[in-house]
Amino acid sequence: MKRSAILGFVLIAVMATGCAVLTKSTPLPLSEKKASPEHTPIWNDQGWIIARGSIHNHTIWSDGCRTPEDLIQQARNEGVAVLSITDHREGRTCINNKVCLDTGGVDSKKEGFEKYFKTITALADESQNPIVIPGMEFAPYFWNERSPKLLLKGESRHYTVYGITDPKVFEDMPLSRNITTKAQPDPGFKPYNDFVNYVRDHGGMVFQAHPDWINPVDYMVAEARADAPNMFAAQLPRLTGVAVIPDGIFGPGSPGGAWDLALMEYLTGYRAEPLWGTGDTDFHCPDPKNPANNLRIGTTLFYLKEYSSNGVFDAIKSGRMVALMGELFQESYVKEFSVGDKAVPNKVMLGEWVNLSGPAVIRFSLNKELPVKEARLIRNGKVIYTATNSNFEFTDTEGAKLAIPSYYRVQLIGDGPMELSNATLLYTNPIFANWK
Ligand SMILES: [Zn+2]
Ligand SMILES: [Zn+2]
Repeated sequence: MKRSAILGFVLIAVMATGCAVLTKSTPLPLSEKKASPEHTPIWNDQGWIIARGSIHNHTIWSDGCRTPEDLIQQARNEGVAVLSITDHREGRTCINNKVCLDTGGVDSKKEGFEKYFKTITALADESQNPIVIPGMEFAPYFWNERSPKLLLKGESRHYTVYGITDPKVFEDMPLSRNITTKAQPDPGFKPYNDFVNYVRDHGGMVFQAHPDWINPVDYMVAEARADAPNMFAAQLPRLTGVAVIPDGIFGPGSPGGAWDLALMEYLTGYRAEPLWGTGDTDFHCPDPKNPANNLRIGTTLFYLKEYSSNGVFDAIKSGRMVALMGELFQESYVKEFSVGDKAVPNKVMLGEWVNLSGPAVIRFSLNKELPVKEARLIRNGKVIYTATNSNFEFTDTEGAKLAIPSYYRVQLIGDGPMELSNATLLYTNPIFANWK
C-alpha cells in the first residue's frame, strides 16, 4: 500500500471512531474514595426519588481512562446515583472491504460485545449505589462522498443506546463497517432509521448524542465534516431523545430549535412519541488542567418511582427528566413544574398531558430559589415569559385563546458564558396541554 493510502486509511479509521481519537488508553487509576459525596445524589420529594444521573460515559473498553470499577467509584465520589457506561462500539473499520483496522472500540475485541456486557452487567448487579446502566455509543453509518481526496460524511452522527444487554442483538445490528475509496452516494436517512428501528424493536432506547458537535477536519488525503443530526419525524420517527446538554445548547436546545420542532411534530400527530431531552456527560478522562472535566459536564435528573434500572427506564420513556450543567445548578432539582387551570401547588408533571378549560397557570420552582440571568417559559417553541429568578408563576391567557394542543417547557440560564461544554443551564422536559 502506498504511503498516502496508509495514511488515509489510518485517518479515516481514526475519524470514523467518534468524538475523540479512539486509541487504546492507559488506565488512570482513581486514587481517592471519598467518605461523603461532593453533591447530593438523591432527593426524596412528593413521592419521587430524584436521582442525579450521568449518562454517556467511556471507560478503557474504548477511549476512556477509567476502568468500569473506577468510574463507578468516581460516580460515588461525585454524588451520581445513576451511571451509564456507553463505550464506543466502533472496532473493525474497513476500506473497500479489504483492509480493516482495529480502532479500539468494543467491537474490535474478541467476543467484544459478550465480554463487555458480561462485565458491565455484573458490576450493575453488584452496585446499588450508583444504579449502573449498561449501554453503548454508535456511529452507525458513514460513507465517503468524494474521490480521490476523501470526504467523510455521517461520522459525526453518534447515538447512545440503553436497555439492551444481549450481545447477539448487537452482533446483528444494521451498522456499516466499510467505506470505499470510490465516491459513494448519500444514503439519506435510511441507514440511521434502520438502526433506530432495530434498537426500538429490541426494547432499547436510543438518543442523539452531541448534536451541536462540529468537527471539520482536513487530513490532506481525507476530510471530514460534521453533518446535521437527524431528529425529525421524516428522518428518525422513533428516536427516543436528544442530548440537549451540553453539546446541544445552540441547535436543538434553543427555543424554536430542532427539539421544539420535533415536539411540534408530536403535537400534530406526525410523530407517535415525543422526543425527550437529556444531559450527557460524555466523560472520557480527567483533565488535571480542567477540574470541571468530571461527571458533572452534563447531568440528567431522573424522577423515579422505584430506585432501580427499571425505574430509570420508566423515567426515560415517560420524559421524567431534567437536564442541567454548570456549578450553579448542581444542588438543584425541580420541585414544582405544573400546568393547571388554577395553581396546582408542589407538583412535578414532566412529560404528562393536562386538560384545561381556561388560561393555563404555570408554576415553576427549584428546591432552592436561585438568581438567574433568564428563566424562560417556552410554549410550542416560542418564549412566552421570562423572569430573573428560578421560581415563577405565569398565567398564559394567549394559549387558552389559541386552544390548540400545546406544550410548555422551561429553560434556566445561569451566570457565566454561553459556550459548548461550559455554560450554566437547566432544561426541563415538556408538559403537554389540551383545552376542552
Ligand atoms: Zn460521540
Ligand atoms: Zn461519547
